[in-house]
Amino acid sequence: MSWDRVRDIVVTHHHPDHYGLAGWLQARCECKVWMSERAYAEAALMWGQTASMNKVLPLYFAGHGMPEHLTSGIREHLESFEPQVTPQPDVSYINPAEPFRMGSREWLPLVSGGHAPGHVSFYHGESGQMLCGDAVLPQISPNVSLLPGSDPQPLRTFLQGLQELRSYTVSMAFPGHREPFSDFAGRIDSLLLHHEERLETAERLLASGPLSAFAACEALFRSRVTTVHQLRFAMSETLAHLVELVRRERAIVTELGGFIVFAAASKSDISMD
Ligand SMILES: [Zn+2]
Ligand SMILES: [Zn+2]
Repeated sequence: MSWDRVRDIVVTHHHPDHYGLAGWLQARCECKVWMSERAYAEAALMWGQTASMNKVLPLYFAGHGMPEHLTSGIREHLESFEPQVTPQPDVSYINPAEPFRMGSREWLPLVSGGHAPGHVSFYHGESGQMLCGDAVLPQISPNVSLLPGSDPQPLRTFLQGLQELRSYTVSMAFPGHREPFSDFAGRIDSLLLHHEERLETAERLLASGPLSAFAACEALFRSRVTTVHQLRFAMSETLAHLVELVRRERAIVTELGGFIVFAAASKSDISMD
């Protein structure tokens, strides 16, 4: 396929493994790059001209108990993405209120968040085909991250998005990772269940005393985290679960020894509100 045959590039969300080469390709194809306005705002938050996530996130993690020898690695890790997203594309916004034409088909854009703000899936009702990006993945659970300056309740947003996506009749789903799969509703149900179970596990951890998010992260992910990349995902996902517990009044957030910590919500805490 030659460059001049590429007319449009459609990006489901801002993560570098999806958005990363869009600008590089656009320079060769002179085509449009489409994404949602919210997704592009998130790209700007992570990698825009004035972005400071490489400095803000290590401080944020430090406030949540992560020791310095690990936070310094987070900064380098975030900076390592820069070449992957450079040059950045000129973006046209997908209008979620209108069908989006790709090839001979009109697709319904479905915006959901949680894994990535402004993530767009595309649904073709006649065939029941769903291009679901990373909103729903087979075998692996899409990462849900709490990041400073982004969605303050990403797990709630993610669960709401799953409920909405579940209302479409899907014959085949085409995910951003792994193979196409047919049991879209079943996969969503198991993701919903997975997060309820993880919330219960996090809540049980707090029963033995207040914990920083880093201590909770170690307890939840200990043996599975071997790289900085995994550590960042594990820490942000732990935070997403902890703030959801707080939102549901099953935990409280407080301060202890200079760190932000999460504690079990006792009955009296709730009745005092
Ligand atoms: Zn992603
Ligand atoms: Zn991805």
